[in-house]
Amino acid sequence: MKPIVQRNRKTKRSNVRSDNSPYLFSGDNAVGEPMFVCGACGGNINGNQVATRYYYLCSSYKNKGIAGCNQGQYIQQDKLESKVLMAIRKRFSKNRIQNLVREFNATLDDALHDQDCAETHILNSIEVLEKSIANIVKAIEQGSATVPALVKRLEQLQEERHALEIERAEIKKDRPLIPRISEETITGKVRLLQNIFQNPKQLTKNAA
Ligand SMILES: [Zn+2]
Repeated sequence: MKPIVQRNRKTKRSNVRSDNSPYLFSGDNAVGEPMFVCGACGGNINGNQVATRYYYLCSSYKNKGIAGCNQGQYIQQDKLESKVLMAIRKRFSKNRIQNLVREFNATLDDALHDQDCAETHILNSIEVLEKSIANIVKAIEQGSATVPALVKRLEQLQEERHALEIERAEIKKDRPLIPRISEETITGKVRLLQNIFQNPKQLTKNAA
C-alpha cells in the first residue's frame, strides 16, 4: 500500500519564502526542497533584481560566476510565473481533478478499511477470550475441577486480553486523520493560486 502522506524530507525548514518577497517561487517548497533548480548545474534558482527588472537566476552563477555554473541560467520573473500558472491550470483539468479525488479517497478508504478489519478481528478475539474467562469464573464458583489450575488459566486469558487491548489501541493511534477530499477543495486552491499570480501584492497584504 502506498503511503497517504509523504513525510517531509527535511524536518527543519531553513529557507522559507518570506511573506513580502516579490518572487512567488523563492525559498523552499512545502516538502523543504528548493522550488526550482538549475538544469545546468543543479544549483538553486533564486529571485534576483537587476535595475527595475525581476529575474530568477541560478544561485551558483550569481555567487561564483562562470566557475559556479557555466550556463548562468536565468528567466524573467513574469515569464516563469505565468508558465507555472499555465502548467498548473492545465494539470488540474476537470477530468484530472475527478480522478485525483477518486484515487485519493479510495486510498484513504482502503487504509481505513484495513484498520477497521484489523480492529474487528481483535474485537472478535476479545469476545472469544471473554467467553472462556466467563466459563472459567463459573467453574470456579461452582467449585468444579481443580481451582489452582483454573486460576492459572484465567490469568493467562486475562493477559491475552490485555495484549489485545493494547494492540487495538495501537491501531486506533495509527488511524489517518486526513479528511476525504472534494473537487471543490482542489478547484478552490487552483483558483486561489490563480488570484495570487494575478495579484501577488494581495498575497503580501493578506499575509501581513
Ligand atoms: Zn546553474
